[in-house]
Amino acid sequence: SFRALVTDKRADGTVRSTISDLDEASLPEGNVLVGIDWAGFNYKDGMALAGIGGLVRNYPHIGGVDFAGRVIESHDERYHPGQAVVLTGWRVGEWHWGGFATRARVNADWLVPLPKSISTRDAMVLGTAGLTAMLAVHRLKSEGVKPGVGRVLVTGAGGGVGSMATLLLARSGYVVDAMTGRDSVSKDLLALGADAVVGRDVLAPSPKKLLAPRWSGAVDNVGGAPLGELLKQIEPGGCVASVGLAAGDGWDGSVVPFILRGVTMAGIDSVMQPYLARVTAWDRLASLFGFAAYEHMVTEVGLGELEGVSREILKGNIKGRVIVSPKR
Ligand code: NAP
Repeated sequence: SFRALVTDKRADGTVRSTISDLDEASLPEGNVLVGIDWAGFNYKDGMALAGIGGLVRNYPHIGGVDFAGRVIESHDERYHPGQAVVLTGWRVGEWHWGGFATRARVNADWLVPLPKSISTRDAMVLGTAGLTAMLAVHRLKSEGVKPGVGRVLVTGAGGGVGSMATLLLARSGYVVDAMTGRDSVSKDLLALGADAVVGRDVLAPSPKKLLAPRWSGAVDNVGGAPLGELLKQIEPGGCVASVGLAAGDGWDGSVVPFILRGVTMAGIDSVMQPYLARVTAWDRLASLFGFAAYEHMVTEVGLGELEGVSREILKGNIKGRVIVSPKR
């Protein structure tokens, strides 16, 4: 049997999660069985455990959109028992049972072999947040936002993706303004390599269609009205990588930044990234990321703590990455 946090829907439509021992036969179909060492906790996991956002298709459900561990059994020639693997996205933890368990059975196509230099714990320190931040940084670069040309902004910098993006941009030579609503994380963001920490007021509502250009690029984790204000302050030819919606999924905006300044908005989707793009991003992370420099942003929890973590992440109170040991 294996141990899992099982989320079920009650008659009144609300969801509830309990730790249970389940039989391996109850795992969904798939050709690789993985023993999970670590899972990550992401904003989406917060939504799923709270039963909001319509992410989960069927109940009972096991959440956890990313995990890392070792192959126990494989019916796919690419994977063998003992091999370290990581999984993020592909709707695992939403449509398919995910990482809040000591076992998962998945489709081999969704896995990535872990680069040799990183442990399964390292892989979940990075997790979906690290992969997404890496994709966003790479996208900015390919859209022409180069290090050494102006400053870049990271919004929601105290969270998972934001803190990862701050560190990765700084290590790639960018001058980073880290935007946070929390004074308590300022020192942490400077330690990750931010050049300056700015408050959410830099994206406060303005009636103007354009504002003085301030950043050559940005990684935006908050969306909503602040994204509209951000677009007004991007340098001509600059780019915003749109990653998240912590402040909402819509804004009252105009095309003016696009047509008068040639600003690009580049969407980042980590969930459906093809295999080769994932392998490349994980290799880049393995060589670029500074695990020691990030450790002060990591919190370890067990399955019993996840409902509490869910409430906190939805309130925007989580610092950096929360990683989950399903044995705990
Ligand atoms: P997270 O750890 O909760 O980070 C979000 C951060 O946004 C918070 O820590 C907070 O940072 C800030 N924030 C929260 N509410 C806000 C508000 N109302 N106004 C302004 N800032 C606010 O979540 P995450 O896991 O890093 O994910 C960040 C976002 O990216 C989420 O929306 C998530 O769904 C999305 N995401 C997308 C992808 C993709 O593939 N596109 C992948 C992963 C995540 P401060 O307190 O520091 O301001």
